[in-house]
Amino acid sequence: MVARNRVIVELAAIPENVGVARLMAAMVAAQGEFTVAEVDEVKLAVSEAVTNAIVHGYRGDAGQMVRLEATLSDGVLEIVVADRGRGIEDVELARQAAVTSDPERMGLGFCFMEAHMDEVRVESEVGRGTRVTMTKRPAAKSAASVKGG
Ligand code: ATP
Ligand code: MG
Repeated sequence: MVARNRVIVELAAIPENVGVARLMAAMVAAQGEFTVAEVDEVKLAVSEAVTNAIVHGYRGDAGQMVRLEATLSDGVLEIVVADRGRGIEDVELARQAAVTSDPERMGLGFCFMEAHMDEVRVESEVGRGTRVTMTKRPAAKSAASVKGG
């Protein structure tokens, strides 16, 4: 197990890079004590955040870049997905289920991120961009540390 690692990548804002981001995040998570199921949850959360950056942040402008940071620190994984796109006017509202600016979508991306990660923080400024920070601890490790005091 790797106790500490940090990977930062910049991805062109095209749908093909959602898969690249998923793999990068999964490879860092796999160095910790996460189960295969937990790594899958990380991949799902990363997909939603990167898709949002591409679709909503940049509205398909392929010339823009999405930043992904994956940090493993004492076994805890922190993922940051950041764009310098449109930003979100009302973050609290946007995080609610079924709230979307695109009627073709379900408005569940943030809910999935929350369901799969322990913590999701969203910082956004209209016209400047959005930064989503998500953390996850391995469930087995949390249980073990409680048991051991
Ligand atoms: P789904 O994820 O189910 O396809 P969705 O993307 O609309 O639908 P969420 O991911 O929950 O749902 O996002 C809710 C809303 O927040 C979006 O419709 C969009 O208006 C706004 N949003 C989310 N991420 C960003 C972003 N990076 N930049 C700008 N707006 C965003
Ligand atoms: Mg979404």
